[in-house]
Amino acid sequence: MPVFRLPLSSSGRFPSCFRVCVIIPAIMFGALALTGCAADAASARLPLAPPGSEKVDDVAFADWLTAFREDALKAGVTAATFDRSMRGLRPDDDVVKANESQPEFTKPVWEYLEGALSDTRVARGKALLAENEKLLDRIEARYGVNRHVLVAIWGLESNFGSFQGTKSVVRSLATLGYQGRRMDYGRTQLIAALQIIQNGDIAADRMTGSWAGAMGQTQFIPTTYNAHAVDFDGDGKRDIWNSHADALASAAHYLGKSGWKTGGSWGYEVKLPTGFDYAGADMSVSRSLGEWVKDGVARIDGRSFPGGEMDEKASILLPAGHRGPAFLVMNNFRTVLAYNASTSYSLAVNLLADRFRDRGQIVAGWPRDERPLGRQERQDLQELLTARGYDTGGVDGIIGFNTRKAIRAYQRSIGVPADGYPTPELLDRLRRG
Ligand code: CA
Repeated sequence: MPVFRLPLSSSGRFPSCFRVCVIIPAIMFGALALTGCAADAASARLPLAPPGSEKVDDVAFADWLTAFREDALKAGVTAATFDRSMRGLRPDDDVVKANESQPEFTKPVWEYLEGALSDTRVARGKALLAENEKLLDRIEARYGVNRHVLVAIWGLESNFGSFQGTKSVVRSLATLGYQGRRMDYGRTQLIAALQIIQNGDIAADRMTGSWAGAMGQTQFIPTTYNAHAVDFDGDGKRDIWNSHADALASAAHYLGKSGWKTGGSWGYEVKLPTGFDYAGADMSVSRSLGEWVKDGVARIDGRSFPGGEMDEKASILLPAGHRGPAFLVMNNFRTVLAYNASTSYSLAVNLLADRFRDRGQIVAGWPRDERPLGRQERQDLQELLTARGYDTGGVDGIIGFNTRKAIRAYQRSIGVPADGYPTPELLDRLRRG
């Protein structure tokens, strides 16, 4: 079989970088690290495919389809649905390429937020909030989820429905299910997609989405759709592609089921006290707001926290390490993580929701002189830490809980703030030995 290589840049197929790199991997592959995800997120370009990548073989694909058909039928998909939806299907080379790409370069979180919170997006969101006021009244009354957050998710997932992806979901998922590093995902989601078609919500040829199978105005993957999509406009179909009402209500239903607290805060930008122990600044550490306040954590604008929230659980988030802004994040911040397991995504959604109400300006400055580590550098960091006896839980280029813990231990050993945040300076120091 012939070997092919990726073009230097294939990102032009997608309208904005964070859709490709942040949203899709985070929705689909929830195992991504919480911090550092935005990192993977926002790549400047896509890299060359690894050598040995092979073009799809039509005969092997046909064999795979025959075997997969049996699994789908066992899962309750009828032969008629399967054959009608899959007829004439062949793999999509664009999907193969997108699936293989592993971005090397990483966009800083502040650049990702600038794109997510652009003036254009804020203005469009405000206009849509006004246009859809009555609908949003009904959705809030039914699900208890804040309208600004729903419209923010709508804005980030599909630019308010205007970019949903134009690929055939069935074809994309068949391609992923057949080969590559997301085969289980592809097969599970393809069966769910066929169930949706069988249910009559949408015809196979109108079921469009991203290369990864994220669909409609909410960019739900098929299993999320099956669990959470609702028919809110009452036409008998759960149409997240063409109905604003169905899309917004489906997002509300999903957040409601994921632990949304009506009237709760997502969090606050805060100022940490002098001598703050950065070991506590991790999403894995939850304490009551009252305890943080007792330790000297204060709102950056000098206002006091609402008294009624003192028993709420909160964590400190440092999206760019101890030199950047600090946030105290609460229940509804975590709920948005159910939608997309990236802290940068949740921060963008919640800040965008605030901007719709003319709030949500970040006060502290970002460490703009400090570029985020690329994929290879993150792997090098993990290797060097491991060689020194700090357990990073493997070398995968993802800065997850274990790697942050290892970084903190190393930072403590050299007497620098133990924020668990990887920087080029830290990597240099490890390389120098
Ligand atoms: Ca409907």
